[in-house]
Amino acid sequence: MPETIFITGILGQDGAYLAELALKKGHRVVGGARRSSTMNDWRLRELGIHRDVEIVDFELLEESNIRQNIEKAAPSRIFNLAAQSFVGVSFQQPIFTSNVDGLGVLRVLEAIRQVNDGIRFYQASTSEMYGLVQQIPQTELTPLYPRSPYGVAKVFGHYITRNYREAYNMHASSGILFNHESPLRGEEFVTRKITSTLARIAAGSDEILYLGNLDAQRDWGHARDYVEGMWLITDAAEADDYVLATGRTTTVREFLTQAARELDLSLSFEGEGVGEIARDATGKIIAEVRSSFFRPSEVDILVGDSTKARKKLGWKPTYDLKMLIADMVAAEVRRRDA
Ligand code: NDP
Ligand code: GDP
Repeated sequence: MPETIFITGILGQDGAYLAELALKKGHRVVGGARRSSTMNDWRLRELGIHRDVEIVDFELLEESNIRQNIEKAAPSRIFNLAAQSFVGVSFQQPIFTSNVDGLGVLRVLEAIRQVNDGIRFYQASTSEMYGLVQQIPQTELTPLYPRSPYGVAKVFGHYITRNYREAYNMHASSGILFNHESPLRGEEFVTRKITSTLARIAAGSDEILYLGNLDAQRDWGHARDYVEGMWLITDAAEADDYVLATGRTTTVREFLTQAARELDLSLSFEGEGVGEIARDATGKIIAEVRSSFFRPSEVDILVGDSTKARKKLGWKPTYDLKMLIADMVAAEVRRRDA
């Protein structure tokens, strides 16, 4: 039966793919987007769905706005994907980040409780909550140890979601999602920064790709797989928390090497730490490590164990790292040549 789905953060990477998925399933999609002077709907346009979704002004800092939107749209499910999602910025804007990513979740939950506590709720929790990891791989039961204002704020969102589930018997779930990327990823994130810059370099640009910590390890999946998981989480009879991850971890250096290879660039590395460089086969400097891209406190390694989601929801990722990189690089080349 067609439902109305409300997606906060619909103009972001996950919002766009989730909207596409919900539309394919025949549902009405209402998407919340921050008011701005120009509509930044390039992701919806790239997916060809910008005319198929209803966009409403939505602000996670504004309680009355959230409540009115929920009353008006009358959704059966709300996916709270809106957030200040960049860890690096959270060190520069910790209070804003905490307000949006932490208290913002509570504002939505409270509005649901007051308007219609039968609405199913999904919270976008994150592997960044594990931070200084206490266990490898990380599961739903691994103790949390966030390492950034972003991670700390998301821990609040995670626990307040669980609290509303337990206190008010609401169908409120969290997906603890490990890093997921795609051609629609924001350019400040390391994977997209690498693929977009390398595509320009491969086409003749003489810029250098400046990066930070090449030794950080992430469990990178494809956003398309992860929005399928979000859907299954809200479909489940009982609300619960689930890890979504591939179970494989890779260094930033290896991601860089593989993305370069996809563009026929063979990299060799020289030096260590700040100042380390990567050259192509002709000796040209392609990438260089700069201190400005390091974080005040780093998350060194993330690798998730998604056994619970695989067993209880039947979820499993379909993209491996090679396919993810191929998809991202192909999209950069398409855009570059368009
Ligand atoms: P994006 O940054 O691409 O999208 C987030 C969206 O939230 C943006 O469209 C942004 O609007 C919007 N937003 C930010 N602040 C507000 C606000 N105050 N009120 C309303 N909207 C706001 O993130 P992703 O799509 O990658 O991620 C979706 C969610 O999943 C986020 O909550 C993120 O923290 C979480 N997550 C993501 C992971 C990943 O690897 N991608 C991993 C784990 C969790 P604008 O376009 O105006 O900036
Ligand atoms: P995050 O896991 O949500 O912080 O996702 P990012 O893509 O922003 O960062 C992933 C990892 O790449 C982190 O450990 C960063 O420190 C590391 N990294 C190294 N160089 C860069 C860079 O230039 N930009 C970003 N965003 N991250 C970088």
